[in-house]
Amino acid sequence: WRVLGIESSCDDTGAAVLRGDGKILGEALASQAGIHEQWGGVVPRLAQEGHRKAIDETVEEALRRAGISAAELSGVAVTVGPGLGLCLEVGVRKALHIAAEYRLPLVRVHHMEAHMMVTRLPQSPTPAEGFCGPAFPILTLLVSGGHNMAVLTRGVGQHVILGSTIDDSIGEAFDKTARVLGITQVPGGPHLERLAKDGDPKVHPLPKPLSKTRDKVLLEGCDYSFSGLKTAVRTLVEKELPSSKAAALSEEGLRKAQADIAAAFQKVAVQHLCERASRAAGWALELEPCTKWLVVAGGVAANQEVRKGLQEVAEEYSLQMRCPPPRLCVDNGVMVAWAGIERLVLGLYEEPPSKDGADNHVEIRPRWPLGERDPRSQQEKF
Ligand code: ATP
Ligand code: FE
Repeated sequence: WRVLGIESSCDDTGAAVLRGDGKILGEALASQAGIHEQWGGVVPRLAQEGHRKAIDETVEEALRRAGISAAELSGVAVTVGPGLGLCLEVGVRKALHIAAEYRLPLVRVHHMEAHMMVTRLPQSPTPAEGFCGPAFPILTLLVSGGHNMAVLTRGVGQHVILGSTIDDSIGEAFDKTARVLGITQVPGGPHLERLAKDGDPKVHPLPKPLSKTRDKVLLEGCDYSFSGLKTAVRTLVEKELPSSKAAALSEEGLRKAQADIAAAFQKVAVQHLCERASRAAGWALELEPCTKWLVVAGGVAANQEVRKGLQEVAEEYSLQMRCPPPRLCVDNGVMVAWAGIERLVLGLYEEPPSKDGADNHVEIRPRWPLGERDPRSQQEKF
């Protein structure tokens, strides 16, 4: 197998060529850093334009690094959702074009499944051993810019969602809090982590999310909420660091004040994540007592405090934790190619599109709940 993976669901154009045993033959990533900063967040039209400019070169670069031509591929995998429709369209068009031109099977990949499956990428591929990544069933915590979920995965496409956010994702909370603290880079999450390293989380106690709700399901369940915490930080900044006060501080003094708030936010966000993850572990073990793995995936899995906190949860429940290496936590082509290989092996692909292209079409799904309308999903509800 040699599979090309294409990712374009948000603001990164990613492409990679992987061998069936998980060896990364070539990868390329075009980031849109510097494009969305002045708007404070990703602007779909601009992101689409960025993908259009980058897609051909990114795919070519991945193939070049792999040392093969498109004719030597055995399949093409592409993210079809969830994500920004305008952006997904660019990657899907490119994938369809290559699949039609070289008569290759096409794999439609779910972006969040790709985020989690990349942890199953064999570390030291020896074909005889098969996968040496986490084996199913797996408890996954998806922590990214658009999602915050605890999922029990029994196999490819077979997901039981144990909890999700009722408002913002943790990544969104990191990004919005970063802006409130004057961080201008997009996304702000990793910069907030850096700032929080110099802060004391005890200076400003912040409220624990969902601790005062009268809704028993929310109080005792595995769902998440981050918007209250985000608002609490905003109020704190308005009180502690109004522009008049900030202007009077030295550069060092201002940074320290901001760092204390960043650290307080990060501490409570991680505590909330861990409290609910711990419950999810209990639920997962009840449903599937042989669960041995906790996978933490998505951009926020790159955060050291998040990893530390969840490592403790994993140990408490005798689970082994696995996170992707930091560069594969955020959006990339490797995860799409790997998720594609996992599906190709199971026969979950579409026949090559016709070369004349007349009827070629691949449905994109900007909103696509994990596991829904998946041929392997058992449509289980917890
Ligand atoms: P989704 O995958 O849900 O569609 P997305 O693709 O935009 O959303 P990812 O690329 O998986 O999200 O992750 C990006 C998010 O991860 C951003 O919110 C970013 O701030 C956050 N992030 C990345 N690194 C860190 C870090 N070290 N600490 C905190 N947050 C981080
Ligand atoms: Fe993502």
